[in-house]
Amino acid sequence: MNVISKDVIVVGGGAAGLMCAIEAGKRRRSVLVLEHTERLGKKILVSGGGRCNFTNLHVQPENYLSANPDFCKSALSRYPPADFIGLIEKHRISYHEKKLGQLFCDGSSRQIVALLEEECKAVRVEIRLGCKVRSIRKALSFQVETSQGLFSSDSLVIATGGLSFAKLGATDFGYRIAKEFDLKVTGLRPALVPLKFREPAGFGALSGISIDAVARCGNQSFRENILLTHRGLSGPAILQVSSFWREGESIEIDLLPGQSAESIFSNEHGNKTLSTVLSQLMPKRFVQHWRRSQSIPDQPLKQFSKIELGVIARRLHHWKITPQGTEGYPKAEVTLGGVSTSELSSKTMESRSVPGLYFIGEVVDVTGWLGGCNFQWAWASGHAAGQYA
Ligand SMILES: Cc1cc2nc3c(=O)[nH]c(=O)nc-3n(C[C@H](O)[C@H](O)[C@H](O)COP(=O)(O)OP(=O)(O)OC[C@H]3O[C@@H](n4cnc5c(N)ncnc54)[C@H](O)[C@@H]3O)c2cc1C
Repeated sequence: MNVISKDVIVVGGGAAGLMCAIEAGKRRRSVLVLEHTERLGKKILVSGGGRCNFTNLHVQPENYLSANPDFCKSALSRYPPADFIGLIEKHRISYHEKKLGQLFCDGSSRQIVALLEEECKAVRVEIRLGCKVRSIRKALSFQVETSQGLFSSDSLVIATGGLSFAKLGATDFGYRIAKEFDLKVTGLRPALVPLKFREPAGFGALSGISIDAVARCGNQSFRENILLTHRGLSGPAILQVSSFWREGESIEIDLLPGQSAESIFSNEHGNKTLSTVLSQLMPKRFVQHWRRSQSIPDQPLKQFSKIELGVIARRLHHWKITPQGTEGYPKAEVTLGGVSTSELSSKTMESRSVPGLYFIGEVVDVTGWLGGCNFQWAWASGHAAGQYA
């Protein structure tokens, strides 16, 4: 069989894989990207509601979850957000900060994929779409058998992402390859994912209501919106805590962040009912649901004792609820866990035990917070591997 030889083969044409291909191409390495779907960067296309939250100005190593929190430091420091912004500006893509340092395209995420395609073209990266990898063997070089023929390379970069959104092309390929080469893979779970609740906490009728709140899980807390859904809770604050939540645990929600419920009660006219007072601060339908779920009668404030008002205030600031589970990989933005960082060099992303084998992006056990951190990790880890592969 005819074998096509390359310096570098990258499996996975998403954010990390394309960045790595561009960087390796700049070093005049011959690079081949193998993507099994018919289109590059499908997750980029749907991300940020179609506008791609491509980085975050304030990104820090502390914004990542990993068994080794130091692992991401090196790559992130060598490819900061300013470098990707430079690329965005070079391609004249207009963008804006939505909030909290989150940068989005003014136009469409298609511009980001087009940027990556143009950069690949400029350094002669070859891209094969609809290419299924059947097997990988390592002899002197890597032998990659695919639906489009046999390829060999000195370096093999696995950039096949996580398990979420299988309909966009996600597979467990990267984890399987790691195991085939005897590399450890940590436990995996859906993260940045809506949480489900059992009745009577079910919020079916309230679906669509959004409230400014602080969501807490363990010692992590996030102030952003929470969104009531048919099956439970979503919205940025909930997605953030979902990465820290474990089965059986409760989460806590402060429904009046930055305010004091006790002072609000003492400043109100005692003839007003509890619902009337709270409905000035959050949607009325939610207030009724919450009050009933707490078995609190709707009566004028003056009919509650001081102690009772204190209890209600505490519950408003510390509303404790126990999720039944998450909505799983079909709704998760990312996969928590991945190829163990203990197997990889944090400088190059190369396997310590299999020379020439690299893992980058979401397939690695580095998971970012919401708000552009996951793409920043994809760019930075892809950039790091691209300097060495
Ligand atoms: C709906 C949604 C919205 C998101 N929004 C944001 C956001 O706004 N900001 C942010 O920072 N992050 C966001 N994320 C997370 C972000 O998309 C990922 O963390 C990021 O794409 C990971 O990059 P990656 O290159 O590692 O993997 P991916 O981008 O998933 O790329 C992996 C590629 O490998 C291909 N592949 C898989 N298996 C194989 C195989 N066997 N053979 C060949 N190819 C294969 C896939 O088809 C895909 O093209 C979002 C995720 C989702 C699901």
